Amino acid sequence: MEHPLNVYNTLTRKKEIFIPLQEPYVGMYVCGPTVYGDAHLGHARSAITFDVLFRYLKQIGYKVRYVRNITDVGHLEHDADAGEDKIAKKAKLEQLEPMEVVQIYMNSYHKNMEMLNVLPPSIEPQASGHIIEQEALTEEILAHGFAYESEGSVYFDVVKYSKYHHYGVLSGRNIDDMLNTTRELDGQEEKHNPVDFALWKKAQPEHIMRWPSPWSNGFPGWHCECTAMGRKYLGNHFDIHGGGMDLIFPHHECEIAQAVASQGDQMVHYWMHNNMITVNGQKMGKSLGNSIMLHEFFSGNHPLLEQSYSPMSIRFFILQAHYRSTVDFSNEALQASEKGLSRLMEAYGHLSKLEASPTSSIEVKDLCSKCAEAMNDDLNTPIVISRLFDAVRIINTVKDGNATLTAEDIKELQEVFQTYLFDVLGMKDEATSTGGQEAYGKAVDLLLSVRQQAKANKDWATSDKIRNELTAIGFEIKDTKEGAEWKLGV
Ligand code: ZN
Repeated sequence: MEHPLNVYNTLTRKKEIFIPLQEPYVGMYVCGPTVYGDAHLGHARSAITFDVLFRYLKQIGYKVRYVRNITDVGHLEHDADAGEDKIAKKAKLEQLEPMEVVQIYMNSYHKNMEMLNVLPPSIEPQASGHIIEQEALTEEILAHGFAYESEGSVYFDVVKYSKYHHYGVLSGRNIDDMLNTTRELDGQEEKHNPVDFALWKKAQPEHIMRWPSPWSNGFPGWHCECTAMGRKYLGNHFDIHGGGMDLIFPHHECEIAQAVASQGDQMVHYWMHNNMITVNGQKMGKSLGNSIMLHEFFSGNHPLLEQSYSPMSIRFFILQAHYRSTVDFSNEALQASEKGLSRLMEAYGHLSKLEASPTSSIEVKDLCSKCAEAMNDDLNTPIVISRLFDAVRIINTVKDGNATLTAEDIKELQEVFQTYLFDVLGMKDEATSTGGQEAYGKAVDLLLSVRQQAKANKDWATSDKIRNELTAIGFEIKDTKEGAEWKLGV
């Protein structure tokens, strides 16, 4: 096989020719969502980035096994050692079984992904279903002397490991700096060193999600699941491991350490990371109140949003930036994407109506190969999109009668849309597919404003009817001071 694709490998810090270990098969693992809350724009970026990679690998002829996990044993997102189980907390708060919480957010994640036209992975393993594999990994690391048991928990011995191997190989962090700057956290005195991380944690009495193990009733450390499940489904050595840049340290650094400490070498050939999304120039975060959920984009119900945005305008907005650059969200930027996307879709609509001429008076040549070239250069989707806009200009010139195209050139244009806009970038025409997400959002808003008016007129029958019937269809209506908010329930 040819090897047209070049990807940036975080591990070697350079672009490399992508050569799979077992052609034509490609094994790809991406860290999926933690399921104790709704998915936000950051989730969408990671899912869309690796969806495009998945689509493109298949497009160029590889057979891809794409594994994307579900983190559902309730760790804290960025500190697996701190011990608070967010799923259990939510379960207690809402009087649900922890697995009910998991299911609710997993369903809602899947629904969001489907709306964003993100293809389902080949395997979607849940951490809670792979406790045995994670215990086996812990046992191996213990047997090789790179972990120790302490008070029923098992910790990875980072200091000992770094005497033999390079801890920091992926993130570029230096172990001595880490030792000097990592402060001791409360309740972590059972660790030999603050940089050590948990492979197994003994459960506190209030901890609901717990499993038996040789060390205690407890739960695996967060980093274990991806090493154990990646190995189970893709083997000891596989091609690609992806995720957001925020996962490079500690999560992926720890995954590498776990692999080397258990099997003697690294599992992953190419590490790929997508950059983050900022909101009006600021980092996205719950505490900043700027973490906008996907359903809020789709409904427009968020103080920072001027309107609702369709899933495809979100997808297009994300793909207009290279995956390794930051993307800054603003209403202005999203509205520009929305306009750009409708120009593309309109031109595509005109394309089928163009009449062929004996000669072309405008250059179409090589648009497909130019798109391929851009994709091969580390998935340069913004360049692909600018090539598609070249196609739009050609189509509009011909439509306005200012140029002619042969049947062959019209076919080339059709192909560039079909292959790159639809198959590879994964865009779809919402106006024809879902009846228009935006129009649908506006229709619900309209119904709620009629209900608001009815309430103002004390016409309770009409007001209740609208509420009840929307609820029966599956909408969740929440009354607020300003009126009412809605979302499509799960
Ligand atoms: Zn992971």
